[in-house]
Amino acid sequence: MGLIVQKYGGSSVADAEGMKRVAARIVAAKKDGNQVVVVVSAMGDTTDELIDLANAVTPIPGGRELDMLLTAGERISMALLAMAISNLGHEARSFTGSQAGVITDSAHGRARIIDVTPGRIQEALADGAIAIVAGFQGISQDTKDITTLGRGGSDTTAVALAAALDADVCEIYTDVDGVFSADPRVVPSARKLKTVTYEEMLELAAAGAKVLHLRCVEYARRYNLPIHVRSSFTTNEGTWVAKDHPGGGKMEQAIISGIAHDKSEAKITIVGVPDRTGVAARIFQAIADADINIDMIVQNVSAAATGLTDISFTLPKAEGANASKILQAIQGEVGFASIQYDDQIGKLSLVGAGMRSHPGVTATFFAAMSEAGVNIEMISTSEIRISIICRESDLDRGVKAAHTAFELDADQIEAVVHGGTGR
Ligand code: ADP
Ligand code: ASP
Ligand code: MG
Repeated sequence: MGLIVQKYGGSSVADAEGMKRVAARIVAAKKDGNQVVVVVSAMGDTTDELIDLANAVTPIPGGRELDMLLTAGERISMALLAMAISNLGHEARSFTGSQAGVITDSAHGRARIIDVTPGRIQEALADGAIAIVAGFQGISQDTKDITTLGRGGSDTTAVALAAALDADVCEIYTDVDGVFSADPRVVPSARKLKTVTYEEMLELAAAGAKVLHLRCVEYARRYNLPIHVRSSFTTNEGTWVAKDHPGGGKMEQAIISGIAHDKSEAKITIVGVPDRTGVAARIFQAIADADINIDMIVQNVSAAATGLTDISFTLPKAEGANASKILQAIQGEVGFASIQYDDQIGKLSLVGAGMRSHPGVTATFFAAMSEAGVNIEMISTSEIRISIICRESDLDRGVKAAHTAFELDADQIEAVVHGGTGR
């Protein structure tokens, strides 16, 4: 008998039918002799709808109340799922994140889990019940307020619980059959990956492949917990996210495992910055003080005649207005000419551990972009990733072109999107 943690995403429980289908799956796992803990997301696009509602009553919803509102989505799901399971003749007990012992810091909207004390879950399991936990939420250790873990955070709840309970496996059920070589919504010829390493999945998640929440992969790597990403709509074997590819990574690897894209970033260019020591430090300190995460940075060579340069950086679109305001406040002090804000950008990233031992990846990539008519505006790299910024309107074309250039296209279409709106 094993202990399984299963997580069902919003598209898997979008309506009553979905709830019933998922309930039957959970009961089947229980009947197989396992102890089952289930983490569930809000139904369908509920979280987006709640955010829209908050924005309709105030332009800037406060973090505490927004978190209180959003956690309601997962609470609806957990109770309905427990009822659906009970209707099948099995005992299920639902728990909020706080009741499940998910303790976080107090950063509303992007709280980090600092401890998991799942005493009540263990009690439920000991009583032979199925435990259902509301994903994406916890309680702050200091303020005792309800927090959320950031969009997509139910994945992280699942992995954190699986680690705390020493589960045998953490299964993430979603609306596609696993992790693909690119987002199946953009590249229908994407290929399902049998395995992907934590290292590669971290880069893919950080680069925008929302199939797994970044923090959940960090967590799984820290505890060396294998994740099985699979569809709740089929019984197909999905993708295993683990330390190594089978064979301990000694097998011949694809150069590129996957391509991720991201339309959630914007670019700020600070024009006419005096090229003096300390100026960049002053600018980025102001941005950091406001807790804004920046991604890529490019500084041009300064024009000899003027001693002025331009600095561009990317950041989440949601932080754009705030960052512009902060920069305007230090414009006089730093002495730059102006700020340009561009939210029509897209980011395309190639990820693959095989990149380390294969020179020429960049050349192939850039040639593919050139043939597809995609202009490269910014570039950044890590050991196993190359990312570029381009026009948002060119992004999907660029992803398809890179996918083909690295021979990732499947012979037969295997990327089926079973549900969800992609919102
Ligand atoms: P859930 O509601 O189950 O958490 P998400 O919408 O968060 O589902 O994540 C699943 C979606 O992730 C898929 O529908 C797909 O569009 C998207 N996705 C992006 N990149 C990938 C990838 N490389 N492989 C699979 N899915 C991906
Ligand atoms: N419901 C939350 C969201 O839509 C959390 C999750 O689904 O993982 O982001
Ligand atoms: Mg998700």
